[in-house]
Amino acid sequence: MLTTLKGLVLRERSVGENDKFLDILTDSAGMIEVSAKGVKKQNSKNASVSQSFCYATFCVSDSHGRYILNSAEPIRTFFELSRDLERFSLANYFAEATMYVATEEKPNNEVLRLILNSLHFLSAKNRELLLLKAIFELRLMSEIGLVPNLIGCCECMKYTAPRMQFDLKGGRLFCEDCFGARDLHDVELLDDRLLHYIRFIALTDMQRLFNLSVSKDYLQQLSAITERYLELQLDRHFQTLDFFKTVNGYNYE
Ligand SMILES: [Zn+2]
Repeated sequence: MLTTLKGLVLRERSVGENDKFLDILTDSAGMIEVSAKGVKKQNSKNASVSQSFCYATFCVSDSHGRYILNSAEPIRTFFELSRDLERFSLANYFAEATMYVATEEKPNNEVLRLILNSLHFLSAKNRELLLLKAIFELRLMSEIGLVPNLIGCCECMKYTAPRMQFDLKGGRLFCEDCFGARDLHDVELLDDRLLHYIRFIALTDMQRLFNLSVSKDYLQQLSAITERYLELQLDRHFQTLDFFKTVNGYNYE
């Protein structure tokens, strides 16, 4: 049976001399693995679409959940990212984290939109890398149901306070009065600005998400908080992130 789906190639793996497996995040089937035969041959019509960061309409034959590539029509490619190691390493981190949370059973179009938008702004070079990283990390958690409770202090419901404690593991806020002498390890102190940025990323419409502008003095701190939040929520550390940090040269500690 032939099926048509739109999807973004997140990873390509070589098989033998001529073939590849593609991990594709699709609009209607979630994450799928597609066998792409002969695409490493130079004259293959599917050679260019069978690469990481190609967004395309794929026509695949589906036999009992095993997908074989038939043909594809590119919609948008992000191959230019590979010419810039720093951007490319961040894109690979986005891809690894997305593959980790995406499942075959449940298509999640908001996750697909998030990574497509992130790659778009990464290619356009008009957003700070650490801003894109922070948006991607926190928003990814929101889209898969791990959104923190940001309405206010989880005990007295105070919406704003000069300083709030963000409990990263519990995904909740405490004002300083209510936080008291709690012995929580994974907390970050948020001032008004940081709280605003975090609320915006977690809760605003996808269309406005990338309009967020963050003052330069806050970028590293914001990026460190969203990174810790993702790692604690997923209980997972990604090697592609280490590589990005090596290239990026910033020490977050
Ligand atoms: Zn309170």
